[in-house]
Amino acid sequence: MRGVTVEVSARKFSIPFECPCCGAEPDSEITLSAGRTRGLVFPYCARCVAHVIAWESAGVPSAATMLLGIIAAIVVGLAAGPLFGALVVAVTIPIVLAIARAMRKRAGARCAQACAGPGRALAYLGWDGNASRFQFESPTYTARFAEQNDKRLVNVTTALRKLVDHYRIARLQVPTPVVAVSAVGTPLSPDAWIERLAASGTVARRHAFLRAMEAIHDPAARARIVAAGANLEAAKVLERAEGLPGAEGRLLFEQALVDVRLDNLPDDLEEAVVRLFEERLRST
Ligand SMILES: [Zn+2]
Ligand SMILES: [Zn+2]
Repeated sequence: MRGVTVEVSARKFSIPFECPCCGAEPDSEITLSAGRTRGLVFPYCARCVAHVIAWESAGVPSAATMLLGIIAAIVVGLAAGPLFGALVVAVTIPIVLAIARAMRKRAGARCAQACAGPGRALAYLGWDGNASRFQFESPTYTARFAEQNDKRLVNVTTALRKLVDHYRIARLQVPTPVVAVSAVGTPLSPDAWIERLAASGTVARRHAFLRAMEAIHDPAARARIVAAGANLEAAKVLERAEGLPGAEGRLLFEQALVDVRLDNLPDDLEEAVVRLFEERLRST
């Protein structure tokens, strides 16, 4: 990846709610993992997820052809002599290269004009105990990510500083908001927010949660939204705990408690999920 590296000094950081590849409104998500670090979910648009999958699997047919070519070369080599085996390899290589090229071209053709590239537009380089490190293909997304996490940035490289400055200047000339503004409609009721949380994938749900917390001020309604969000975050673990014997159930909740603290959840949501798991741990 050619992108600029961005480091944030926290486990918690803000994720711009737009596709990191083409900038469109996200309707899908992508999970990034680095080594043993837990996967992080990022918003993505479905179209870009499709071209990433096509791009990442583009090497499979050519690798399979190469394997067949090698097997054929061994068989021919044993039957007719090593020179003929070498000839089979010599014929296979251009075919393999042509297949790889064609597959990559096909994946590339799925991209939109605005796409940062045919492959993954971002990489998570892991948490080293001090910072989470990322790389993004799109300069716009890099700048937005850096701006949204301004206070948490560490080891800012000259390249990143330059990029953010350019972006800021460009924004002064053509005013665009730091955060993409979604269409403003009638304000949602707490129940409508809860419905929206339930209907979304992980990234969209967390984004909706933050927006609900900005929009709803009544403490009781906020508590209800937090509780609903926590139940949704915890749902997978609770489902897995069903029917597990006591000791295994406790192990599951202990691990879930570690995971939720490492996850990129809004603070109030994290606290609620922790309370939920702790209660279950006590009663298991
Ligand atoms: Zn996209
Ligand atoms: Zn794309």
